[in-house]
Amino acid sequence: MESGTKFNEGFGFEIVAAGENGLARAGTITTPHGQIQTPAFIPVGTKATVKSVLPEAMEDLGSQALLSNAYHLYLQPGPDVLDEAGGLGKFMNWDKPTFTDSGGFQVLSLGVGFKKVLAMDATTFRSDQVIAGNKERLAHVDDEGVTFKSHLDGSMHRFSSEISMQIQHKIGADIIFAFDECTTLHNTRPYQELALKRTHDWAIRCLDEHQRLTIERSDKPYQALFGVIQGAQYEDLRKEAAADLGSMTSSGVSFDGFGIGGALDKDSLGTIVGWVNSTLPQEKPKHLLGIGAPEDLFVGVENGVDTFDCVLASRIARTSAVYTMTGRFNVSNKPFTRDFNPIDYECDCYTCKNYTRAYLCHLFRGKEMLAATLATIHNERFIVRLVDQMRAALIDGTFYDLKADFMGRYKHKSGQSRD
Ligand SMILES: [Zn+2]
Repeated sequence: MESGTKFNEGFGFEIVAAGENGLARAGTITTPHGQIQTPAFIPVGTKATVKSVLPEAMEDLGSQALLSNAYHLYLQPGPDVLDEAGGLGKFMNWDKPTFTDSGGFQVLSLGVGFKKVLAMDATTFRSDQVIAGNKERLAHVDDEGVTFKSHLDGSMHRFSSEISMQIQHKIGADIIFAFDECTTLHNTRPYQELALKRTHDWAIRCLDEHQRLTIERSDKPYQALFGVIQGAQYEDLRKEAAADLGSMTSSGVSFDGFGIGGALDKDSLGTIVGWVNSTLPQEKPKHLLGIGAPEDLFVGVENGVDTFDCVLASRIARTSAVYTMTGRFNVSNKPFTRDFNPIDYECDCYTCKNYTRAYLCHLFRGKEMLAATLATIHNERFIVRLVDQMRAALIDGTFYDLKADFMGRYKHKSGQSRD
């Protein structure tokens, strides 16, 4: 770094309007690849592509940034390839801001095979053994990191704070996340405490390694590091983690923003996010990891979330489920064979402007690839636009009117989704 240059040169966050309850706000995140007007929904391109959709189409539908995944890109094609390509954005022909998820969630969930229990329905069943289950144990967590088996070819790998930072610096996204231990709602309270202690230790090591790599690679654009708040469903643990990471400084640097992670029970989502965001420093951006159902986005924004990512919109699109202002339906169902209306008259997307339900029904039934493309464009536009409408409503003081209007019409409940 040249003397006089700010460590996180090129990154910033400004609050432009505060909502009625004190937590909700509209703002602007600035990155070396442009700005994000918040609150904003960030579509997911897990492996440096939003499945079936061109980056130009993602830009046209209003996507301000894309989020990819460090775990998947580490396994294939490998971080060195992205580094040589000039970073994630350049590699995938996307010149706007990018995020990468640390890989913590994936090494534990994909490696271990407990993806199912991250669903947002807490049951009374509690066991740390869920992680192993009856299956071969595919990931082992210790105080230093996680050893796991690749879900692609069974080869053994190890992630730690340092390795996650090295991978994410090579991938080169504008916003990266600290390596954390993601638990499930089924883990016992003593295990949650142990995992939180590890996440604390790993957060310090992430700051140290991030500081070292930022200086070593000072010819690259600055990458903002977000700390991840865990603590499951426990108020004291969530607040303790938020206070701890919120004020954490190591090697002279602190987190640029925060992610809220972990399995979140749908009914307590707002409460938990509220605990965390009322404890974290107000002036820093907050990202809610893996949440993207319409009703949950309102709850997140209401409780101070600035950005969201979720694979739900694109994943369900590929199964023919499409959003409308009154709920979700499957456009491949028989009744739509001769329905020449657009998916949703209130939608302004490319698909709704040019195609009918009957055409999409035909494409899905014929297993045509264009089905996924058109349905994904619609669903991503629906979610991106809904959050943009929340931003506009926060600015003109009508957020609760928008929420009441939407929730009064929209009939569907769905869960949490991460790749
Ligand atoms: Zn549409």
